[in-house]
Amino acid sequence: MSDDTYKNQIGWNFDNSYFRLPGYFYTKMHPIPVSDPHVVIINQKLANKLGLMLEKPSKKELAQLFSGNALPKGSEPLAQAYAGHQFGHFTLLGDGRAHLIGEHVTSDGTRVDIQFKGSGKTPYAKRGDGRAALGPMLREYIISEAMHNLGIPTTRSLAVVTTGEKVYRESMLQGAILTRVASSHMRVGTFQYLATQKDGKGLKQLADYAIDRHYPELKGSEQPYLELIKAVMNRQIDLLVNWLRVGFIHGVMNTDNMAISGETIDYGPCAFLDSYDPETVFSSIDQMKRYAYANQPHITQWNIARFAESLMPLLHKDIEQAAALAEEVIQSFNAPFQTAWLSMMRRKLGFFGEDKADELLIADLLKWMKHHHADYTNTFRDLISETIPKGDYYVTEDFQDWWERWLIRLKQNSESTESAFSLMRASNPAFIPRNHQVEKALFAAEEQSDFSKLHKLLEVLSEPYVDKPEYKEFQKPPKPEERVYQTFCGT
Ligand code: AMP
Ligand code: MG
Repeated sequence: MSDDTYKNQIGWNFDNSYFRLPGYFYTKMHPIPVSDPHVVIINQKLANKLGLMLEKPSKKELAQLFSGNALPKGSEPLAQAYAGHQFGHFTLLGDGRAHLIGEHVTSDGTRVDIQFKGSGKTPYAKRGDGRAALGPMLREYIISEAMHNLGIPTTRSLAVVTTGEKVYRESMLQGAILTRVASSHMRVGTFQYLATQKDGKGLKQLADYAIDRHYPELKGSEQPYLELIKAVMNRQIDLLVNWLRVGFIHGVMNTDNMAISGETIDYGPCAFLDSYDPETVFSSIDQMKRYAYANQPHITQWNIARFAESLMPLLHKDIEQAAALAEEVIQSFNAPFQTAWLSMMRRKLGFFGEDKADELLIADLLKWMKHHHADYTNTFRDLISETIPKGDYYVTEDFQDWWERWLIRLKQNSESTESAFSLMRASNPAFIPRNHQVEKALFAAEEQSDFSKLHKLLEVLSEPYVDKPEYKEFQKPPKPEERVYQTFCGT
């Protein structure tokens, strides 16, 4: 292709509804061009799903496109304004290093945000450089795609390019830009931001926009904004229970990192449990263990409380009555969460129907796992058998007792044991992005420009519920010397 027509030939179909919202929702601005972009990875499957024809442009042209050096027709780039409680403290934030380049509408009418992360400083950058390093962007790529394949709502990753420029963190690193695809980027913090604006007009506009985009069934209801809080809470409960199911620890559940759509967003120092311990924290910046594995339900409820608070002006003219309405929703969190959690754990253990002894069986297994530092993922997968699992730590009296109780409960099922095992196979992944494997793939990519480990890992994680003996290595927990104790944002 001679000129720059390639920009418009890959099939973008932009319709930028957020851009049509009032100016105080965002700052219009272009990504800052980079000197020498190169494609590191492109998600061909996702591109196909979005109807993008990435075969047409050359690699060089793709690098221009996915660095923001060349913007396609119809793109109206902006940086979103938002606020957020970061580790409990309220701050005004906004996209400091991200640009929403537009909303792409696929042929079946699905609308997705296309956002660059690491694409240069915006007015919200504060002291940040507006850039991102290759490691963290590839980390988000790996883990978000793994989450998608695990069947968990998440933003996705379409491409990573290096910028040809250095970024300075603890050391000098390669700069990179991630193209993120999300059903939207509205966060709890977006509502908090608009609630701080004087006239409150923007708040109603945002709430109506969120209902239109994500909860159209609420339109016309008597109390749409109260219903919105409940609906967001329900999606967050579903998300949270999925996280707990696979042992995911988000790591930075600040209110600016909680999406209204119910997708997992902002992969920073997130990680998966190896050995089971509910108090596990990986993030180096989470000294108080605020975002520990088992604290995630409490934090989800806390964040929903902040969401409800920000919507209070829309709930009732009388502030006390508004507070009472909000409070009622927040207090209703536990019952549906407990129900969803219990039913998820039942599926993990292959139980159909309910038995009053189930809760004790679940609690006893978790207690045993904690005591023996059992691997969270492998334990559930090992149970899928009519014979007692093999392995050193199963040869304990307490496990044998528990296993016999479990087997009796399994036989009480209304469905066959084979059906129970199918249910377990679908609820318990064989493959998760184990921290030590992720770190190995990132090290090879960053330090040795060797992307083979990254591709291999992505392949392993592509069908996480299917047994694949050839990938046995990836099921192993870390050896003591491989164990990752801390993860870093690397922002
Ligand atoms: P995060 O911890 O990634 O959710 O980011 C929190 C806030 O810091 C967001 O407003 C980001 O846009 C901003 N931020 C993070 N890293 C940078 C950076 N390198 N330059 C500018 N802003 C940043
Ligand atoms: Mg964030």
